[in-house]
Amino acid sequence: MNVEEFRKYGKEVIDYICQYGTNIEERDVAPTLDPGYLKKLLPADAPQSPESFKDVLEDFEQKIMPGVVHWNHPKFFAYFPSGNSFPSVLGDMLSSAIGSIGFSWASCPAAAELETIVMNWYAKALGLPKAFVSDAPGSTGGGALQGSASECVLVSLITARARAISELKGQTSVHDSVFLPSLIAYASREAHSSVEKATKMALVKLRIIDADEHGRMRVDLLRQAIQNDVNAGLTPFFVVATVGTTGGCAFDDITEIGKVCRQVSSIWLHVDGAYAGNSFILPEMRVFSAGLEYADSFNTNPNKLLLTNFDASALWVRDVMTLKSALNVNPLYLRHEHLNGVDYRHYGIPLSRRFRALKLWFVFRTYGIKGLQEYIRNHMALAKKFEMLVRKDERFEVRNDVHLGLVCFRMRTGDEPNHMLLAQINHSGKMHMTPAKFNGRYVIRFCVTYEHATEKDILDAWTQIKCLAEEILRDHQLESSSVPTTPEGSERTSSEPMAPVSGKPPIKKKLTRTKSLRFSFTRSISREQYQSQSEHLMDGCTPILVVDPKTLQENFQKAADDNDRNTNNGSNGAINSTNKNGSTKLKNISDVDTDEGSN
Ligand code: PLP
Repeated sequence: MNVEEFRKYGKEVIDYICQYGTNIEERDVAPTLDPGYLKKLLPADAPQSPESFKDVLEDFEQKIMPGVVHWNHPKFFAYFPSGNSFPSVLGDMLSSAIGSIGFSWASCPAAAELETIVMNWYAKALGLPKAFVSDAPGSTGGGALQGSASECVLVSLITARARAISELKGQTSVHDSVFLPSLIAYASREAHSSVEKATKMALVKLRIIDADEHGRMRVDLLRQAIQNDVNAGLTPFFVVATVGTTGGCAFDDITEIGKVCRQVSSIWLHVDGAYAGNSFILPEMRVFSAGLEYADSFNTNPNKLLLTNFDASALWVRDVMTLKSALNVNPLYLRHEHLNGVDYRHYGIPLSRRFRALKLWFVFRTYGIKGLQEYIRNHMALAKKFEMLVRKDERFEVRNDVHLGLVCFRMRTGDEPNHMLLAQINHSGKMHMTPAKFNGRYVIRFCVTYEHATEKDILDAWTQIKCLAEEILRDHQLESSSVPTTPEGSERTSSEPMAPVSGKPPIKKKLTRTKSLRFSFTRSISREQYQSQSEHLMDGCTPILVVDPKTLQENFQKAADDNDRNTNNGSNGAINSTNKNGSTKLKNISDVDTDEGSN
């Protein structure tokens, strides 16, 4: 394609994007297709000869678009927002056009320097502790953009693992892997599955801590679990707290969790704020960021709630050197003489990095912090509106505390009619939602996602939901009309009936799923397995290293002996020293003191 063709088709594509955005409501929000639909429409091999760009664009509209779920549709209430906006798309276009690969300062100085500046803007806009802001006086911290929140969790965990192993190892020559079986991480059962994935990849154990009725990690259970594990000779090294859980947007109490973590010097506290961390841009939401001063690392996804298109995830750490020393490899061909330029390849997994800071810079500049605040406040107000509508209808209930854009609701029935309702909602093509299990109950997640969402979008959605629900309730009532109703919060089994829907004649139809109905596309991962095995060390999550206590003991003994022999004890006190019984010496963590963390 020459430059004139690029100019012509580039303009056409921009026109297409504008029209797509303007007329998006004419499209169904999600398709009802079967897997393999596209295979039937496209050839099995790439073309040997060039094809015209016009044909490619036509096929895009005819064949690709019918298989697209429209995340920026006003009736898309699924998952969390995809954080798109025009300024962000334009920034991304320029990043693609430049095509620079910013792994080191030398490979693209602007990418490296803008990333530092934007990460500091972002940290200050969220009111993060100064320890995370690289240009704050005395700070040893800073941030970097990553590809996903999952990567942020993994990078933090790998850093924590390296720190813990280094301290356990001291000056000995024992191989790092010897210490893996003793390492154990902790997260609430409401934490995102990326935590589980990270522990699997890092070959460490994960203990799942139960949550309270609001979906917040039980700090008393965390404290107890850590104490038990220490007594058993394990090394607690990583705790993940979540601000804005995926299932119910619950906010863990970071202050209380932080105080427990402070008692065990080997623990790295990571706070996952993939969605809701962005809401700290609002002073009124900072009640939930209290305690971040205890965190070693924190992540948010501007590609969820900060109008920045995928991919863009931010990770801040309070000690950049620890992060870099866990990830630093430095082959000759990547070295350069500008030693005071930041090399972001040491801050994450990939070598090559996109110029992501550009789109975030565009977003901050074109919206301003005020514009971004307005956008989030609008989502909050609309979610509250939806919550109010649901609560006013006694056939429904809201199960989560609505603090941000997510409302988890259900009909006051067993699960089956709620499965059916979600299936009908998604099958309608007019709205899109996803399910979750929140606090043990199946819920439908209604998340405000659209940038320009209005009250009308919410009212329309609620009217449609009620309409679908009424049919289901009538059918369900037909099936089991003789059993009394159950008050809010009490347990019902899925075969239990619903209250009659007054005023409408029942439809003579049995409640059955038809093939055409699309049941939940993304059922949240069930965590019942963890609950049922909560007393078991392996928790069913990391069956990778089965710990043989005898081997573990021997390895600890060897490490301790080596340490004794080595008069130069290299421990810097970041972890409590290992004794000959293989356990870590700790203060009694049930006597948690109330030291405030430092900024
Ligand atoms: N953490 C939380 C709280 C999330 O809600 C999600 C995804 O929704 C993730 C992590 C994973 O995000 P990513 O897709 O960027 O890896």
